[in-house]
Amino acid sequence: MSIGTQIDRLRKDVPEGMEIVAVSKFHPDTDIREAYEAGQRVFGENRVQELTEKQEKLPKDIRWHFIGSLQRNKVKYIAPFIDMIHSLDSARLLCEIEKQAAANDRIIPCLLQIHIAEEETKSGFSPDECLRFLDKGEWKDCRHVQLSGVMGMATYTDDEKQVRKEFRNLKALFDRVKTAHFAEDPAFKELSMGMSGDYPLAIEEGSTMIRVGTFIFGERP
Ligand SMILES: *Cc1c(COP(=O)(O)O)cnc(C)c1O
Repeated sequence: MSIGTQIDRLRKDVPEGMEIVAVSKFHPDTDIREAYEAGQRVFGENRVQELTEKQEKLPKDIRWHFIGSLQRNKVKYIAPFIDMIHSLDSARLLCEIEKQAAANDRIIPCLLQIHIAEEETKSGFSPDECLRFLDKGEWKDCRHVQLSGVMGMATYTDDEKQVRKEFRNLKALFDRVKTAHFAEDPAFKELSMGMSGDYPLAIEEGSTMIRVGTFIFGERP
């Protein structure tokens, strides 16, 4: 199946207005161009160097999302152009994004990454850490960071109940945070959850943004 065909299938399969982040990590520029020709403009990458190389070569109206764990010393390389960072998970990273966004005279939309899975390895705030981070309020002084919602990855398992429970927990946290801190802020609206294997469930549980790689591009080389 061609990349363009897969993108069309996916668009027909999801509700109108659903943001699709085409996760192009490890895939070559030619694959990204194929998706671009099919009208896709939002792409997700998880390594800074790979991202900056692709950004230089590919069309300038692509909106790049950073979806991987982000080292503070690398924020400066993506700050000039990044459209959204899905992996904000500490106060120190927030400070660095604020500094680099200010240096570029930009406001960078960021999602709070929340650890919802059972696996130990996945990064992100625990729900409690996230609530404490928001209560402390340092983020309010960061005029160059727009907190825009939350992101999470479910456990990699066939157990649909487990995955659904994790998505439901993330949605509940989103609602709680929205009410407590962002009720007056329309920009805080994204619930980034759902990948190739679980996006239908994520959408049923309230996702606004899915991050899909394998379904569009095939297995990663
Ligand atoms: C790789 C990745 C995806 C896409 O995964 P697929 O299963 O290929 O759709 C989504 N989100 C994050 C954070 C990823 O690292």
